[in-house]
Amino acid sequence: MENPYRQLPSLDRLLGHPRLEPVIARFGRVSVRDGGRQLLDEVRQEIAQGAAPPREEELAERLAARLEADLAPTLTPVINATGVIIHTNLGRAPLSQAAREAMQEVAQGYSNLEYDLKAGRRGSRYTHAERLLCALTGAEAALVVNNNAAAVTLVLRHVAAGREVIISRGELVEIGGGFRIPDILRQSGATLVEVGTTNRTRVGDYRTAITENTGALLKVHRSNFKLIGFTESVDVAQLVALAREHTPALPVLNDLGSGTLLDTRPFGLAYEPTVQESVAAGVDITTFSGDKLLGGPQAGIIVGRRELVEGLKREPLTRALRVDKITLAALQATLLAYLREKAVEEIPVWQMIAAEPQALAERAQSWADRLSRAGIDAEIRPGESAVGGGSLPGQTLPTHVLALPVAHPEQVAAALRGQTPPVIARIEEDEVVLDPRTVLPEEEDALLRALVEVGRDQA
Ligand SMILES: *Cc1c(COP(=O)(O)O)cnc(C)c1O
Repeated sequence: MENPYRQLPSLDRLLGHPRLEPVIARFGRVSVRDGGRQLLDEVRQEIAQGAAPPREEELAERLAARLEADLAPTLTPVINATGVIIHTNLGRAPLSQAAREAMQEVAQGYSNLEYDLKAGRRGSRYTHAERLLCALTGAEAALVVNNNAAAVTLVLRHVAAGREVIISRGELVEIGGGFRIPDILRQSGATLVEVGTTNRTRVGDYRTAITENTGALLKVHRSNFKLIGFTESVDVAQLVALAREHTPALPVLNDLGSGTLLDTRPFGLAYEPTVQESVAAGVDITTFSGDKLLGGPQAGIIVGRRELVEGLKREPLTRALRVDKITLAALQATLLAYLREKAVEEIPVWQMIAAEPQALAERAQSWADRLSRAGIDAEIRPGESAVGGGSLPGQTLPTHVLALPVAHPEQVAAALRGQTPPVIARIEEDEVVLDPRTVLPEEEDALLRALVEVGRDQA
C-alpha cells in the first residue's frame, strides 16, 4: 500500500490551489502559509491515528475556513430585528445619511481639526460642534468627549475632587457595563454623601447635608429603571434654588444619561427631561450621550456655564478622553438636523420612534408575502418595540411583528445569526419574531434572503 503521508500535497503545492487565491489576496501569503503548515501538521497526526489522507480540495477548504475564522474582521454590520431601537449591544444609534457623508468627507483627507483657518495657526478641536450645541440647548458653552461615562468622570473630577458630592440614594444607579455612580465618584476623588431614602428624597435632605466641604449637588437621571409607588424626588430647579442659597453658589450637576432635545410625549412615550430644560433650570453642567436619543455617534456631551466648561477644556484628563474628527463630523451633521427641525425625518432613531403601527404592519405583511412565495410560513402579530439604551425604562411602542412558527426557535435564531449579514431576532412564546421597526428599509432584501436561506435549511 502507498505511504499515506506521500499523498499529502507539499505546502507550496497547497498554497497554489485556486481555492486559496482569494484567501491569500485577503489575508496575505504569510498568514496562509503559517496556517497551511499548521494544518498539514495536524493532518499528519490524524493520519498517524488511522485517518485517511484528505484530498487536496478538502485541505484547501479547511485552510480557507480556518483563516476566515481566525482573521476575518470581527466587527461587522448586523440587521437588528429585535425592535429595541437603542440597542447597546448592537452599537446603539444608526447614523443619518448626512452624518455618514460628513464622516466620509472628513475621513478621506485632511481637516481643520486643530487648525484655526482665520489665524493660520494651531486651533482647538474643542470648538467644533460647540456653537451648534449652544444654539440648540441654550447653554453658554459645550465640550464633547469620548462618551457620557467619560463626561461624568471628568466633570466630577474637575468640580469636586477632594470634596463632597451630595446625591439622592434613589439615584445611585448602575447604568450597565459596570458603570456605577458611587464608583465613578470615588474614582474622581470625590466623597459621596447619600441623602434621602431609596424611594423618597426631599430638598431638606440635601439642605441638611451641605457643609463647607460640599463640592457639588449631583442629579442622575434614572435612565434604566422606574421607581413607582410611594416616591418623592427633588427636581433640578429645586436643587438650583438650594444651591443659590449659598455664596458662592454650589455647582449643580445633572447627568441626564440619554438626554433628548425633542419632547418624547407626542410620540406616545413618557416624559423624558430635555437638555434644554436642564439648562433653562439653571443647572451648571449637564451631561448626556451622543448615541442614545440624540441619535448620533458615540460621544459624551457636556453643556453648561462657560467658566466651568473652559476649566474642563484645560483639565489634563480631557486630553485622554478627546473625540476624533470622524465623531465630531457625524455629531455636527446630526445636530444640524435638529437645527433645521428635521430630526424626525432624517435621524434613524427618531424615524424608528415615529414609525406608525399601520406602516409597520404593512412592512411585516410584505415580508410575509415574499416568504410565502418562497414556500415559508409566517404570521403577522401585534407586538411591542422598546426604545432601550438606558432611556425610557419599561416604555414600549405598539408594533406588528413577523412571527415564524418553527419547531426549534433557538436553532432558527442561531441560524439567522449565522447569516451574512447576521440577523438578530427575538424569541417570544416559542416563536421567532422579527420587528420591522428597527430594520432599515435598505436592509430588507438581505433580511429576506437570510430568512429564505434558513427556512430552506429548516424545512
Ligand atoms: C447611558 C448613561 C451613562 C453612560 O453613557 P455612555 O455614553 O454610555 O458612556 C451615564 N449616565 C446615565 C444616567 C446613563 O443613562
